[in-house]
Amino acid sequence: MGKKMAEEKLTPRNENYSEWYNQVVLKADLADYAPVRGCMVVKPYGWAIWENMQKELDRRFKETGHVNAAFPMLIPKSFFEKEKEHVEGFAPELAVVTVGGGQVLDEPLVIRPTSETVIGYMYSKWIKSYRDLPVLINQWANVVRWEMRTRLFLRTLEFYWQEGHTAHSSAEEAQEETIRMLNVYADFAINEAAVPVIRGVKSETEKFAGAVNTYSIEAMMGDTKALQAGTSHNLGQNFAKAFDIKYLDQNNTQQYCWTTSWGLSTRFIGAIIMTHGDDNGLILPPRLAPYQIVIVPIYKNDAERSSVMEAVEKVQKQLIQFRVKLDDRTEVTPGFKFNEWELRGVPLRLEIGPKDVEKGSVMAARRDIPGKAGKSILLQENLAPQVQAMLDTIQASMLQRATDFRDANIHNANTYDELKEIIQNGWAESWWCGSADCEAKIKEETKATTRCMPFDQPKTEKGKCVYCGAEAVKKIYFSKAY
Ligand code: AMP
Repeated sequence: MGKKMAEEKLTPRNENYSEWYNQVVLKADLADYAPVRGCMVVKPYGWAIWENMQKELDRRFKETGHVNAAFPMLIPKSFFEKEKEHVEGFAPELAVVTVGGGQVLDEPLVIRPTSETVIGYMYSKWIKSYRDLPVLINQWANVVRWEMRTRLFLRTLEFYWQEGHTAHSSAEEAQEETIRMLNVYADFAINEAAVPVIRGVKSETEKFAGAVNTYSIEAMMGDTKALQAGTSHNLGQNFAKAFDIKYLDQNNTQQYCWTTSWGLSTRFIGAIIMTHGDDNGLILPPRLAPYQIVIVPIYKNDAERSSVMEAVEKVQKQLIQFRVKLDDRTEVTPGFKFNEWELRGVPLRLEIGPKDVEKGSVMAARRDIPGKAGKSILLQENLAPQVQAMLDTIQASMLQRATDFRDANIHNANTYDELKEIIQNGWAESWWCGSADCEAKIKEETKATTRCMPFDQPKTEKGKCVYCGAEAVKKIYFSKAY
């Protein structure tokens, strides 16, 4: 990163949130624009976050019985015509290869936008008997969707994700799996990313093309807009019928499988940026930060330098269990380093100067609490547990702060006027009659979309639809969204 970059202040969030976001992504060196419109390059620092996310998600997938595999990126175009809703939903977003090796192809090939079709085709070959079930496979992959309005990480033409695809011998089991994986996402989001997501079911309009039901985790960003941060689909027997995924049950009769799919993408990095970031830049949750700690040595002359670096080395040795960056650059000042690592969101900074050498201390500065209030003195002796406690505190208080912010910006809207007011700067929780018409009108008139019907619903209470006034049994969130 150039010296100038870290010195220039970011556009404050309340001046222009989306400009602030773009600047953070670029200046924190997470990603860059690629030559093709809507595509991005994930740079090493951004990729390191993704790798930490992958580790945590992958561990959870394996703990719940899943295995990884890799399916091809090119899918015969005809596969997309087999499931009616799937083709309708995805047709406008498909990138299609028509020439290969200089020859026009007999059948065009789609670059996968998602892999239900090709995986369904393979499952129909692999699954014969109830003994083959369930099949619980995940793949880590990149996919291409020809998105029109793109934003770094949030919506790109090509993105990285994982997609789980499972097949089951009963509707109940498929439903259980759908919810299990939604819960895995929520657990990851809350406990690793400190992003307090809300779980719920999507409306018919917003559900995945070809699904019976789509469940999502929804997160509130720093400007109170919503971000769909991950989805889990119960596909019923739709894809099983389209791709002939059948098995012989215990009574020797042919049955269609019930399938699910679930995905979480690099979009989630955008969720982390916009949940936690402040006007100084990124704030990364310790559990996912590429560097949890940055050590900045401070000295004025050679004599100081040698005693400071000696102390730094001892400190470093104590911290091998953490992801530590020693910033020993000599061409920039400590103040410059502070700004740069603040911008890049490192949760904890340890400064070591001549006074610390004398006193056997270390100055610790928390990223989540700017200025003096976030500073404290630690002892060099037995440093690891002190640092661990501090990282745990940072992680917990980031989650608390984000949860408080979210809860302060969700309001009940009993009337349409209230809804219009609330969604200017928050989420409206309202009764909704379930009609796609009301949903479409609200979207057209206010730009707010339905996010999800939270699992946590009033037990007996009923209400009137916020738009048409008809009897309603479900509450749903309306908000502007990314
Ligand atoms: P879907 O298969 O459409 O349910 O997508 C799974 C998840 O991927 C969604 O919940 C989004 O969080 C994410 N996602 C969808 N489209 C994009 C995109 N164009 N860029 C980045 N992430 C995306």
